[in-house]
Amino acid sequence: MPSLLAPPRYSPVLMPVKDLSVFTGRNHRGTSTTNTSSNTNMSSSVRPVEFNLVIESPPLICYGNPAHSTGALLSGLLFLYVNAYAVPMASVTLELVQERKFKRPVVGSCKACSVKKTVLKRWDLLKQDTTLPRSEYGYPFSHLLAGDMPASTNSSLMSISYYLHAVATPLARDLAPIELTRLLPLYRSIVSTDIRKCLRVFPPTDLNVTASLPAMCFPKSSFNLQLQLNNTINKDKKTRWQLRKFSWRLDEVAKIKSTACAAHDHHHQHNQQMLEDVKTVSMNDVKKGWKTDFSNDGRVEMEVEVSTFDDQPVSCNVSQPDLGFTVDHLLVVEMLVSEEHVPAQGCQNSSPTGAARILRMQFNVDISERGGLGISWDDEVPPTYDDVPNSPPGYDMIVASSEIEHLVV
Ligand SMILES: [Zn+2]
Repeated sequence: MPSLLAPPRYSPVLMPVKDLSVFTGRNHRGTSTTNTSSNTNMSSSVRPVEFNLVIESPPLICYGNPAHSTGALLSGLLFLYVNAYAVPMASVTLELVQERKFKRPVVGSCKACSVKKTVLKRWDLLKQDTTLPRSEYGYPFSHLLAGDMPASTNSSLMSISYYLHAVATPLARDLAPIELTRLLPLYRSIVSTDIRKCLRVFPPTDLNVTASLPAMCFPKSSFNLQLQLNNTINKDKKTRWQLRKFSWRLDEVAKIKSTACAAHDHHHQHNQQMLEDVKTVSMNDVKKGWKTDFSNDGRVEMEVEVSTFDDQPVSCNVSQPDLGFTVDHLLVVEMLVSEEHVPAQGCQNSSPTGAARILRMQFNVDISERGGLGISWDDEVPPTYDDVPNSPPGYDMIVASSEIEHLVV
């Protein structure tokens, strides 16, 4: 009898189930006459049916790219508290939903064009009419989110989110269903410490630029971009290129194939178009601070710190060809160089030839979430036999068996 040891969690009030005011919580004073609990405030806030959701799994992170990720494991417990004496219930369901919101829908006033919901998993916890006596009901659930699912994102063209939605529908038609919604962020993390090297050439000149940047970058962070402008000296022509200034810009490029709902699709099927939105995350003009080396073929070295901080959150890279939706990041670099004539190598006197060029180049930047210390669920090592602690002592080790018999009598 645990209720004798601890006060009951909910006041044992016999609530009339069909009293709507009790369900909405607007009028609860009349119910206190049969309240046997010492805590009257508690009874006033108690609703006849309540949900609680406990997520037991770690944050949902798909490790690796969509083609190779093994997905993220979700597990938890849904609790249904029936605080009233008994509630006739028609159904209890739990759904895992993916919601895609189109920021520029084909028909703005149409909800079906703007929001698309996909039920990834549905649990019918109570299928037939059942009267639930006052108690606490727990439903464990688990689901493996596939590794190629798009991570939660909020780009300028579309947002993708995931949530759990529990609904308990009372049998009485005049009672509103009890609902609970819990947002579940899904992340993608691609762990890499590699440095990517890129080469860009600029014919007809002999100039080339080598760049090195991290293979993987992270939101709300910064990374170093190293640039080297090579072959600045032309010994035959007795000329050399000088870097005058350079600028860089990190752009977030979102693309989406505009799709309408079934009702509006026939108007637009012939001009289904790709929408594109470019947002600049960070940029800078650099006028000094590089190293110029006129030995050998000549080179210029520079290093910049590129920030991924932004007023609006930077989205991670998304590649969902099946949804017609991608988010990429491009680092655009422009260098202004001018040519000058040098009478002899190593000579300090130089005169401009009047020639100038803008060297434009682009580098793809991959942005994903940090992995932290987590690992993929399938890389976890299950506990081995040695990890299992000793069992608690048996009853016969605490009291003699005769005493137990005495207690039972
Ligand atoms: Zn529509």
